[in-house]
Amino acid sequence: MKINLSKLCSGTAVSAVLLCGAPMLSAQTNMENVYSTYPAYNGTDLELKVDNQGTHFTLWSPQAQAAQVSLYDTDRNSPSTAVLEMIKSDNGTWRASVPAQLYGKFYTFRIKYNGKWLDETPGVWAKAVGANGRRAAIIDFSTTNPIGWETDKGPEVKNITDVIIYEMHHRDFSIHPSSGITNKGKFLALTEQGTRSLLGDKTGIDHLKELGITHIHILPSYDYNSVDETQLPSNVYNWGYDPYNYNAPEGSYSTNPANPATRIMEMKQMIKALHDAGIGVIMDVVYNHTANNDDSNFSLTAPGYYYRHRQDGSYSDASGCGNETASERQQMRNYIVNSVKYWAEEYHIDGFRFDLMAIHDTETMNEVAKTLKQVNPHIFIYGEGWTCGDTPLPVERRALKENVAKMEGIAVFSDDLRDAVKGHYSNGENKGFATNAPGNKETVKIGIVASTAHPQVDYSKGNNSKFAYATAPTQIINYVSCHDDYSLTDKLHVSMKGASEDEMMRAARLAQTIVFTSQGTPFMFAGEEVFRDKKGIHNTYNRPDSVNAIDWTLKNKNAEQFAYYCELTKLRKAHPAFRMTTAEAVAKHIVFDDVKGENLISYSIKDNANGDEWKEIKLVFNGSKEPCEVKIKKGEWIVIAQDGQLKADGMGTTKGGKMTVAPTSALILARVK
Ligand code: CA
Repeated sequence: MKINLSKLCSGTAVSAVLLCGAPMLSAQTNMENVYSTYPAYNGTDLELKVDNQGTHFTLWSPQAQAAQVSLYDTDRNSPSTAVLEMIKSDNGTWRASVPAQLYGKFYTFRIKYNGKWLDETPGVWAKAVGANGRRAAIIDFSTTNPIGWETDKGPEVKNITDVIIYEMHHRDFSIHPSSGITNKGKFLALTEQGTRSLLGDKTGIDHLKELGITHIHILPSYDYNSVDETQLPSNVYNWGYDPYNYNAPEGSYSTNPANPATRIMEMKQMIKALHDAGIGVIMDVVYNHTANNDDSNFSLTAPGYYYRHRQDGSYSDASGCGNETASERQQMRNYIVNSVKYWAEEYHIDGFRFDLMAIHDTETMNEVAKTLKQVNPHIFIYGEGWTCGDTPLPVERRALKENVAKMEGIAVFSDDLRDAVKGHYSNGENKGFATNAPGNKETVKIGIVASTAHPQVDYSKGNNSKFAYATAPTQIINYVSCHDDYSLTDKLHVSMKGASEDEMMRAARLAQTIVFTSQGTPFMFAGEEVFRDKKGIHNTYNRPDSVNAIDWTLKNKNAEQFAYYCELTKLRKAHPAFRMTTAEAVAKHIVFDDVKGENLISYSIKDNANGDEWKEIKLVFNGSKEPCEVKIKKGEWIVIAQDGQLKADGMGTTKGGKMTVAPTSALILARVK
C-alpha cells in the first residue's frame, strides 16, 4: 500500500531504519493507562443481531455518556423514523432492542462524549450498508447466498508454497474495452465464462485457468471511502487502501450500491465462480489505518481508543496515511481477529494479505493465524513485514519481516529478492541482477533459499537483510512486482533505456523464472504475463483506467511472453523440488556452484528433493549481456529452459559438458537418474 508517501512504503529502508522504536512518554502513557482499564467485549452479537425476539443493537463504547440508535427507511437522504435510547450494559457496551425483525431498514449509532453528541456512524461492525456506507442495513444474510453456497469451498492447500498468487484490482482486470467482459470493473466480471478479447484470446476467468495460477489476491474489496458510489457512471479509480467499513464489500464493484444485499451477493457469486474453477481467493486487508481520523467509525464509537498517538496526543502515523491503529489493545485485537474470521466464514475467503503488517503486533498476528486455521486449515496469511513510518510500538513487538520467526504460519514479502533481481523499488533507473547490475548476486541467492539459513549463502553480503530471518520457506513470498511502485514492464523501460522491447521481455522472463523456481511462494502482478504496463507511472493508486487497465490485445501481441508464463506455472506445479517446506530440506538439497561473474548464478536442486521425480535440477541464471560458459556434469539431461524459451515438459536433451548460457536468460536442465 502506498498513498500519501511516495517512496517509503515498499520495505527495506523503513524496516531497517526503524530499529529504534520511540518509547511512549508521559501524556500518552496516561491515556494508555486509561485505555487498559476499558473492559473488552468479544461477543459475536456486536452492533446488530436479529433473532426470533426481534432486532438487537449492542455498541461497544466504554467512554460514552449516552448512546442512541437512529432508524431509517432508506440508505440516505431520508429522516430517521425512530431514535432508540441505548442502555449501558456489560463490558463497555450499550444495548437497545426492538421486538420486530427490521429487515429492510437502516440504522446509525451516535454517542454523547465529553458532553457533546458526536456525528452519526454506521458503527464498526456494519456487515451490510447502502451507497457510500453511511448507514448500516438490516438484511437477512441467508438470502444473499448463491446456489450451491453451502457446499462451496476453495482449493485445499497443504502448504502455502504450493500456491501461485496473482494480484489484481477489479477494474484493472476487466475494465478495458478489449476485455470482452460485460460486467466491467465489477465483482461479476469474474463470474463470466467464455469471454474473449477483441482479438480472440481468452480473458477473465478463462484466462486465469489458462495461465495456471492457483489463487487470485484481490486488492481491497471491503467498503472503502474514496469512490463516490452514487456517481457510478463517472466512477473514479482507487486502489482502496482507505478503509471505511471493514466488514462489508465495496459498493462500486457491485451493480447496485444502493441495495445492501447486491454487493454481498455479487461478491459471493464471484468467489463461488472462482472456487468452481479451482481458484482460491485471497483478500487484501488494511486494518493498520482508516481513511478518516476524528470522524472515522472507530473514533465516533470509542474516541481515541483504536489508534496510537504521539506523546503530544496527535495521531501517530506509521501508515503514511494520517493515523495508525493499535492492535495491542484488546478490543482492537479482538476486532481484527473477528473481522478476518467473519470474512473466512461468511465469504469463504481462502487467504489474507495484511497491508503494512508490521504496524500490528506479533501477538495479534499469531491470534489471527490460530483463529483462521480453526475456521479452515487451508487458509494462509502473509503480509508486508514493514511499516511506512515510525510507530510507538516497540520494534520487538512489530510484525516485521525480521520478526517472522516469532509468527508461525505467517509469511512475509521478500523485498530482498525483489530489489536484487530487478533493481531498487524506489530508484527507477537502478538495475538489478537480471538487468546486468553488479552487487546483487548474494541477495538473489538469499531469495533462492527463501531467507533461510544455508551454508553457502553469506547473509553479511545481503543488500536488504543481514541474517536468515525465515525459519522455513513457507514464510516467504517471492515477487518482482506488485501494484506498488513501477510495474515490472515500466521498471524495465525506465532502467533499460535504449533496449528493444524484445530485450526487455527477455529480462522479464529471466526475472520471473527466478521468482517461480525459488523456494518460497511465487507472487505476480496481474497482466505481467502479457507484458502490461502502467504508462511509466510509479504510484497509480488514483490514476484513471487509461493508466491502470490491462489492455487485453497485448495477449495477442505478446503471445510468446504469455506462453512462457504458462510454462512457468506448469513447471512449478509439476515439481515439488521448487516447493520445499523446511529450512533443513533447502540447506540439504540446494547446492550452489562456484561460478565467476557478478551476474551468473548456478545451482542444483539435488536428490529428488521433496519427492520430485527429477533426481537433479540444474538452474543457471545469466543476467549479463554476454553469453556465459558453464560446465555441466555429463549425463542424460532434459532441456527445460534455454535462450529465453521454457518448456515444462522439456525441449530436447543434452549430454552436459561445456554449455553456453545466452545473455539475459535461464538455462534449466533436469535429469531423472
Ligand atoms: Ca465505498
